[in-house]
Amino acid sequence: MKLYNKTVWNTKELRAFFNMISKREGYFPQTIKVVPSRTHMHGLGGIGFGYVKLWIPKTKIKVDIKTKRGRDVELEVLKTGGLRLLARIYIHELGHNLGLDHPEMISIDDINVDFLNGLEIHKN
Ligand SMILES: [Zn+2]
Repeated sequence: MKLYNKTVWNTKELRAFFNMISKREGYFPQTIKVVPSRTHMHGLGGIGFGYVKLWIPKTKIKVDIKTKRGRDVELEVLKTGGLRLLARIYIHELGHNLGLDHPEMISIDDINVDFLNGLEIHKN
């Protein structure tokens, strides 16, 4: 499993994160590419190919309740909440690698990732 990391997030911790999930899922893609996102977390998995690409933001939008205005706040750490989403997206993309298409897959929100409790990923 080759990991190309173009983000601010720690490569060793990302590798451990993907390894742990792949071990649980019983499938390791050949290549994972992790790149920065300007907006939200999302992913892409080659159908039938061992390639997964994931977009991870370094900021999150914080909305002021009074003014309803949003501003970008730099993230210091990826906490369990954000990592749950990343894990769900990753598992979804592994499904594509294994040849599945959306009608054959469960909804991303229904993927159980309770095992991530307390996990964090820090900056490089
Ligand atoms: Zn998909």
